Amino acid sequence: MKEGCENLEELKKGSQDLKREVMDGGWCVSCGVCVEACPYIKALGDRVAVIHDCRLDDGNCYKICPRTETDYHTLSKMVHQKDEYEPVLGGHRKLYFARAAQEKFSEPAQYGGVVTALAALALSENEVDAALLTGNSPGNRPQPVLARKEEEVVAAAGSKYTVCPTVKGLYKTNDDDRVLVVGRPCQVTGLRKLQHRTEMRQGKNVELIIGLFCFFSLRYDFYDFLQDELGIDAVCGMDIPKDGDVRVLSPSGKHEVPLDKIRPLIKQGCHSCFDPTSELSDISVGSTESDPGWCTLIVRTEKGDALVQKAIAQKVIEVQPYPAEKEKQLREAVVNKKRRVLLEQHDFAPINSSYLNMDEKMRQFLKGRGENV
Ligand SMILES: Cc1cc2nc3c(=O)[nH]c(=O)nc-3n(C[C@H](O)[C@H](O)[C@H](O)COP(=O)(O)OP(=O)(O)OC[C@H]3O[C@@H](n4cnc5c(N)ncnc54)[C@H](O)[C@@H]3O)c2cc1C
Ligand code: SF4
Ligand code: SF4
Repeated sequence: MKEGCENLEELKKGSQDLKREVMDGGWCVSCGVCVEACPYIKALGDRVAVIHDCRLDDGNCYKICPRTETDYHTLSKMVHQKDEYEPVLGGHRKLYFARAAQEKFSEPAQYGGVVTALAALALSENEVDAALLTGNSPGNRPQPVLARKEEEVVAAAGSKYTVCPTVKGLYKTNDDDRVLVVGRPCQVTGLRKLQHRTEMRQGKNVELIIGLFCFFSLRYDFYDFLQDELGIDAVCGMDIPKDGDVRVLSPSGKHEVPLDKIRPLIKQGCHSCFDPTSELSDISVGSTESDPGWCTLIVRTEKGDALVQKAIAQKVIEVQPYPAEKEKQLREAVVNKKRRVLLEQHDFAPINSSYLNMDEKMRQFLKGRGENV
């Protein structure tokens, strides 16, 4: 699919517009891209707020938010250096089943440990100076971690199924740091907008992006829910298996919570999320939905491919061909999510797709009404 256009005039807005259109509307997904980009935007826990009445009417904060005007096609051209846009999985070169080949990476990890293994390799091979990750604070809330050593990468392993404004950690990097960022798809989109629409040095510092799959994320009051309902005050691990109950591991043991009970705790803006596989990353990693010892690995860019091939050659990860049937299932899941957003239909939450700038032909195709693009 060709084309892709941005309405640059539309983007000349400031923090008061960001507050009104995104934050006050409940569409903010706590990615953290705008936090600290401007000294007047701060995060407290998972909440992001404009704390000063800045009157700038053409601010970077507005341009880089993943919930202001977003044209995936234009951003994809920048990332993939190609005019064509793959509207389901996004541009990619290879698709694998993959897992870390060493226990030190797979053991503490969510699934196959591919993210942890690749981030550790990028640091040890001096491909990057630091990795911006999401770790746990002693108070058990996710927080940004700027890892410079393998043990810090390993300590941040595992999925925290809540939002976290991780990207605010980017503004704490040194001027000449080359940074690998691991983030949710909304964070990847914000980072690409930072690189595409601004001259900010933090965008230039980002050397490599590993994007996670993500279909929804919970608010921090999920932790209050666990405390009130189950008496859990520390979470050691968590999983949301396909069509199953949510599993929570705490020092007191394993617990199961019906998904319906935590559904109201999903961040409202997640229902409007158009990109479940981090289309704009260099490498995307998700579950296989069948074998928790392995991951789905999507290699997207030349840079991403170079790191993955190095990891295979050095036996840091192992890969297998991706079965055609699994690819079909993945594509269906992604199209269903995109369709819900474009049709603005959900049983339990409002949806707002007005931030998506998209060619009409592609819109119709994704809605299931158009011809193949
Ligand atoms: C909120 C959320 C929702 C997800 N939903 C799905 C899904 O629906 N389907 C699916 O296939 N996969 C989903 N994933 C991805 C999956 O949980 C694994 O992260 C992925 O498969 C990588 O596995 P791994 O074993 O290589 O990860 P690991 O090696 O354990 O590495 C995980 C990395 O994720 C980072 N991380 C942890 N929590 C967060 C967070 N909240 N925000 C940003 N980064 C974080 C850490 O920095 C760590 O480096 C989700 C992840 C998150 C965080
Ligand atoms: S979605 Fe991200 S960039 Fe947009 S307002 Fe929220 S934290 Fe800021
Ligand atoms: S569902 Fe989308 S918006 Fe929500 S945390 Fe995941 S990537 Fe971000």
